[in-house]
Parts: sequence; C-alpha cells; structure tokens
Amino acid sequence: MNDWSPQQSADLYGIQHWGAGHFRVNDDGEVAVQLPGGEVSVPLPEIARGLRERGFDMPVLLRVENHLEKGIRRINETFAEVIDESSYQGHYRGVFPIKVNQQSQIIEEVVQCGRPWHHGLEAGSKAELLVAMAMLDDDERLIICNGYKDGELIDLALRARQLGRRCFLVAESRAELDLVIERSRALGIAPLLGVRVKLSTRVDGHWSSDSGDRSLFGLTATQLIDVVDRLRDAEMLDCLQLLHYHIGSQIPNIRNIRDGVREACRYYGGLLEEGAPLGYLDLGGGLAVDYDGTRGGSGHSRNYSLREYCADIVEGVQEAMDPAGIPHPHLVTESGRATVAYTSVLLFNILDVATFHPEPVDESLPEDAPDPLKYLLELIGNVTPRNMQESYNDATYYRDQAREMFQRGDVNLRLRSLAERMYLAVMQEVAVHARDAERLSAELEALPGRLADIYYGNFSVFQSLPDAWAIQQVFPVMPIHRLDEEPTRLAVIADLTCDCDGKLDHFATGEGVAHRLPLHPLRDDEEYDLGVFLVGAYQETLGDLHNLFGDTHVASVRINDDGSFDFIHELHGDSIADVLSYVEYQPDTLYRRFRDSAEAGVRSGRITVAQRQQMLGAFSESLRGYTYFER
Ligand SMILES: *Cc1c(COP(=O)(O)O)cnc(C)c1O
Repeated sequence: MNDWSPQQSADLYGIQHWGAGHFRVNDDGEVAVQLPGGEVSVPLPEIARGLRERGFDMPVLLRVENHLEKGIRRINETFAEVIDESSYQGHYRGVFPIKVNQQSQIIEEVVQCGRPWHHGLEAGSKAELLVAMAMLDDDERLIICNGYKDGELIDLALRARQLGRRCFLVAESRAELDLVIERSRALGIAPLLGVRVKLSTRVDGHWSSDSGDRSLFGLTATQLIDVVDRLRDAEMLDCLQLLHYHIGSQIPNIRNIRDGVREACRYYGGLLEEGAPLGYLDLGGGLAVDYDGTRGGSGHSRNYSLREYCADIVEGVQEAMDPAGIPHPHLVTESGRATVAYTSVLLFNILDVATFHPEPVDESLPEDAPDPLKYLLELIGNVTPRNMQESYNDATYYRDQAREMFQRGDVNLRLRSLAERMYLAVMQEVAVHARDAERLSAELEALPGRLADIYYGNFSVFQSLPDAWAIQQVFPVMPIHRLDEEPTRLAVIADLTCDCDGKLDHFATGEGVAHRLPLHPLRDDEEYDLGVFLVGAYQETLGDLHNLFGDTHVASVRINDDGSFDFIHELHGDSIADVLSYVEYQPDTLYRRFRDSAEAGVRSGRITVAQRQQMLGAFSESLRGYTYFER
C-alpha cells in the first residue's frame, strides 16, 4: 500500500540541501533536528508534543540552542583553520551584529558560546551599544559601533574604552568625526577609531543597491582623505586602527566578495601610506544563507561554502598585502544571518483547506437547465490530450455565459454553483493532461497555480516571516511529520490575517524554487504541523502587529549528546491585552466599558445577571488569551 519512502520526501523538499546538516528526515517520516556528526537527532514532532503538553499551543517559534553554538563555532574554527594553513599572520575576530536578532536570550547565547574565540558584538544604535557594553567583559572581544552617532553614543563608547574594552567608533562621515574629536578631548579619553569606506564593488542579489557609488553609507576616497587630514591636525591619526566596509547582506556570489576584498585592501594600503596605523580590516556582513538549497547565484542562495568564503578572504588579503610588504591585518567579519538563521524554526498547524477540486458532479441536470450548463456537463469526462486546449476554451466560455445569466437573473444561485463545480471538474481533467504535455499555452501553463489548494496556517506572515512578504524572501517550508506518505496535494499557504499578501507562495524544493508546495490531505482529529526553517535572522523584530497578531510563544531547546533534550527557556507570546496596549488601548478601560454595557443590559432586562457574569468572564479570559487560533 505504502510505496512512498521518507527518502522520497527528503528529496522532494530538498532538506538535505537547505538543511545543511541541521535538519533531516528520519526513518519514521519525521523532520529531525540533527547535531553535528549526524549521530544524534531529535524528531520535531516530539518537541512539538512536549510543547503542547506544557500548554504552548501553535504557533511556536522554536530555537535550537545547539545550532546557534554551531554557527559561532563554525565561522571561528573555519577562519582559524584557513589562517593556520595559509600562515596568515593576523587573527580572526568575529562580531555578531545585534540588529540581526536582538532578543536577549540570543545575545546571551552568542556571548556565552563566543567566549572561547573572543567573539564580539556589533552595535548600530545607542540601545544596542548599551547591550554590548553590559554583556561583554573580555577586553579581547571587539565592540564595533556603526551607524549614526550622537554625542551621547560617542561618550558611551569612550567610557567603554576607558574601562579597557576594545570598543571601536566607526566614522561614517566627517561631521561625526568632528564630534568624536570634540568629545574625546572633553573627556580626555583616546578613542579606538575606524572608518567605513564606500567601495565601488557592486554585489548581486537583493541588496545590490547597498553597494557601489550610490550606496547610502561610507566615505568616498575624497572624504577619506579629508578625514585623515583632520585626524592628523588633531594629532589623533594613531587612533585610526580599523578599516570597515559592508557591501550588503546575503551576497549570493563569491566573486563579489573577492572583488570587495581586493578593493578594500587598496584602501587599507592607502591609509597606511597616509600614516594611519590600522591593524584591523573589518569586512562587514554579507555571508549568505542557502535558503533555497540550490547553491546557485540567486538572491536566496549562495554559490560558495563557508570554507571558500574564509579562504577567499584570507588569501585575497595575503595576495594584496604581501607584494607591498604590508603586515597582515587582523580580520573582522560581522556575519549575522549565517550565524543565527538555522537556530529558529516556526512551527504552526493547519486549520483548514480550500480545494478547487469539486465533489463529483451529479449526472442529472434539471430538464430546463440553461444550455451553457448542459454543454459544461458534456465536457466532463471527455477531455483528451488532443482536445485539452479546446476543452479549456469551451468550459471557460460556458462558465462565463452561466455567470452572465446569473447576473441577469436567468440562473439561480444553486445552478450557478453547479456551473462553477462543473467548470472546475473540467479544469482538473485538463490539468492532468497538461502535466504530460510538452508545449503549453500560457493559460494552461498557469492552470495548476489556479487549481492549487489553499492551506490555512495558524500564524501571521507579517509577525513571523516579514521578509517573505516585504522582500519575497524564500524560506524552506515542509510538514514535520507524515513524510512516509506521499503528499498528494499541491498548495499555497495562507496565514490568519485577512490580507491578500498574507501568504506563502514561494517554496524551496529539491528542484529549486516552486510556487506550490506538495502537502498531505488533512486527517480528521489529527493536527497537521508544518515548519518554516532558517528563520533565526531578522524575522523576530522586524515582525509587526498586522491584524493585531502578536509575538508567538518562543521555546528554546538544548539537545544533549544522548539524544534527550531540555526546554531551556519558555516565553509566552503576547496576550490580546498585550497587543491592545501596544496600540495604546487600556485593557482595563475596555473591560470597564464592556462591563457598563452589560450592566445596562441587565437593567433593561435584555440579559440576566448570570448571563452578565458569563459574558464578562469570556471577555476577560479573551483579554488574557493568545492572539492566534486556539482549539
Ligand atoms: C546588517 C549588517 C550586518 C549583518 O549582515 P549579514 O548579512 O546578516 O551578515 C553587518 N554589518 C553591518 C554594518 C550591517 O548593517
């Protein structure tokens, strides 16, 4: 009976490509979280069961702490290996950009896991700088301050410096530099300075406008000279110890990375020539995640490995510095996305399905049924490969006629419904034949999309996957169980918001990005749970309150070497009262006002006192409840 294997599901969803050893399909047909080495894994359905037993309904954002640790370890170890093999003289110091996931548990974990490698933090605002100052107590770990700086931020960074922290102020403009000089003199503290340069190297992918001459950030060659002169005048050129650039996030093409290194090294040499001591080269972020598993050059992927990334940087710097006799700088990267993406999985259940697969049409039509309906009925069961285009055209024509007759009042609602169902029945037959055809008209090409099921998921794209909406980011999505069963439906996924943008219709599959996802039919009395993977970077805080769906529950697990796992943190998502207060309602006031209405209802005799009590109980219980669908 069952001639479908978990391996076929693994191939279908491409998990071995985008999962990158973090996730796999096990022999029981479930998605499992995997530890490095592959011997230890824990099925996600088991974790989901544990969560439900603890009162955490779907949707839940699940964080796997082991994957974050692995992210930090891998980049540090890979750079260390390459540096060792190439006899590179500098060392590597990574920093985690706080903006990529500011949640305190994540930053705590980054700080904790990063300790052996002196992994630091990058801050782009005062708030982020305060976090970095409080969390790091190791003078070897870098704090890099990017972004706009006012006097207060500069003072904070100088204080951190006074305390011995290796805290760099990266100047992005001449005005900022003047302020740094002024505050440094006022406080009598010498800063560690960096400069951000604007490279002309352009990158491919979504962030290409961050790079090149028109990028928003960084100093041009001319401005850089101006900065150097100003520092020399102020007798502070010796503070300039870091050269920084950031040419974009999710850089899909390794060539862009190499080009950036080459150009930055020229700037590095130029600044040394001008008398700046430097010592650190900070290449910013950009290390991409292979979201669609294609290893291609698309914006959702990358055509290089971590090892290649590290090697190209180390060797690129060496090649540029050695002929000029320049000592190798210490290398800094600000990888955010690649470090945390694998940590988080959004788990949600499916609530309902809308299919475009009609119930079998009853053969008999009323005697006086209008002609278009009779013709539609004749088409059913008679579609062949040869006449499929004709059948498509005819069915569409008769369906449109039936619709017109409905509008004129010549066809009633029941007959209109019948016409629509007969039309879909014909379309389903056409679609079956179209699957095997070699050349199709644009209409037939688009047909499977029009017939795809809609699976309604218990989550909000806007809250949990904002990049899927805002920049059409592809995230891998798949069922976490029933993978020993063939998924026979093709679907798009709609969320709970009543917004036509609240949907997922780009999916990573074994054969690249598809517009429909194979899924299983729902079963009675059984939840159907899906996971959206690789959502650890940027999604949590960019999310918004569209339709007042709030933060989901969050749970972190740590998987032990013996395959057991512990729930380390559990965080309840927003209650309805929480989200209402975010938009300046006062839940107490809302309750009082509703109570007044209920009391008036009692007074007028519309409801009893007991009914009043039930109503108020339901109202206040809802205020305390989850914003998502609860069974
Ligand atoms: C956003 C940002 C990063 C992080 O980039 P990723 O692509 O996530 O690694 C690093 N540095 C700066 C200056 C940034 O603005």
